[in-house]
Amino acid sequence: MKVAKFGGSSLADADQFRKVCQIITSDADRRLIVVSAPGRRHADDTKVTDLLIACAEARLDGGAAEAPLQAVVARYAEIAGGLNLAADLVDRISDDLKTRLAGPTDDRGRFLDTMKAAGEDNCAKLMAEGLAAAGADARYVSPRDAGLVVTSEFGNARVLPESYERLSHLAEAPGVTVFPGFFGYSPGGEVVTFPRGGSDITGAILAAAIKADVYENFTDVDSVLVANPDVVPSARPLPELTYREMRELSYIGFRVFHEEALEPVFHAGVPVHIKNTNNPSAPGTRIVVDRRAPPGHVAGIASDAGFCSIYVSKYLMNREIGFGRRLLQILESEGLSYEHTPSGIDSISVILREEQFDAAAEARVVARIREQLDVDDVSVERGLALVMIVGECMRHVVGIAARACGAFARAGVSIEMINQGSTEVSMMFGVKADESAAAVRALYGEFFEDDD
Ligand code: ASP
Repeated sequence: MKVAKFGGSSLADADQFRKVCQIITSDADRRLIVVSAPGRRHADDTKVTDLLIACAEARLDGGAAEAPLQAVVARYAEIAGGLNLAADLVDRISDDLKTRLAGPTDDRGRFLDTMKAAGEDNCAKLMAEGLAAAGADARYVSPRDAGLVVTSEFGNARVLPESYERLSHLAEAPGVTVFPGFFGYSPGGEVVTFPRGGSDITGAILAAAIKADVYENFTDVDSVLVANPDVVPSARPLPELTYREMRELSYIGFRVFHEEALEPVFHAGVPVHIKNTNNPSAPGTRIVVDRRAPPGHVAGIASDAGFCSIYVSKYLMNREIGFGRRLLQILESEGLSYEHTPSGIDSISVILREEQFDAAAEARVVARIREQLDVDDVSVERGLALVMIVGECMRHVVGIAARACGAFARAGVSIEMINQGSTEVSMMFGVKADESAAAVRALYGEFFEDDD
């Protein structure tokens, strides 16, 4: 049995719905289907989820929600019309949206989540009807009835462990079951959504719960590429990678598959197959437990800007017990999460995501470090990018760092920081953000072009 999840671009209009119906009905094993909300039809379009957020915010701020609400109804009407489905389906969707919009707004997060979840929920109902109209034995199931229980963190739900057992009955459901992605129910019965892009997470939870043979994740690219094609237009496809490689790559920059979606399938050992709705016969990319590759093989290159570094130095830091803990405690008490802490004998840098560290937070943190830790020097460097090479087979191979550094030197890229993860699955370089594209191209040239 396969779980197949379809992303927003696969459901953007009636033509896309038809392709999805065809994909589902062409394989009798595709029996548990997860859908996102309709996404963008073209570059200037707005996703249904964003329209729903606009509706909710208009109501919360006392403005008029009518225009975005009508835009959402129009999106469903266009799809239902294109599939020749009964007109009353669109009336039901419209009524559902109005009921949600008229609901209590005392808790902003709860209200927003109830509105956001409408995108997937109604899309799943539409898909079930579309499949039935195409002759399939298909039905919609509500995450509440099915047993998807999550924490009450609005917009940031986490699955509760009992869900897996509760959802396992879906393996026995007859025909095709269509399940809306992106949300579950709290133990108190409230709708709570996962982080944005969270339909991938729903699919992964279901695949783990029913111990699927494979979790197919249908999107709009033929396969994952070894590097961002905006930076390296000739980047090669990546036919296979391990969970750990995908985890490292999606940490900075690989957006094809939600990083939180890996955990359930990884624990259950269910392979993931990323495929293209617009070209379903393309081989796609498989995410597996283990794979064979030559020693030293680099699976992919990822990069992301938006990092900064707090550099702290103090003579004899290495002898001062508790220095690192006290430094990180200052960050913790400011509500800051850190990413890495490369260190020297008498110095340490803490790498953070810049978006959470505004000028006021910086001033407070720097002052506290000076006062409480009595340091020789503390400074903040902004505008950094992290560039990473990832590959399980890099482990125990001599010379990978030398090759990477040589490539940077030839491209004139200066390295601000090097960090090799303790698992040796990845090697990370901090560079100035405006040099990150050159850094990625240099690494691609070194590890993918020279060995062609
Ligand atoms: N529709 C939601 C979003 O746009 C969830 C998803 O598509 O996975 O974030």
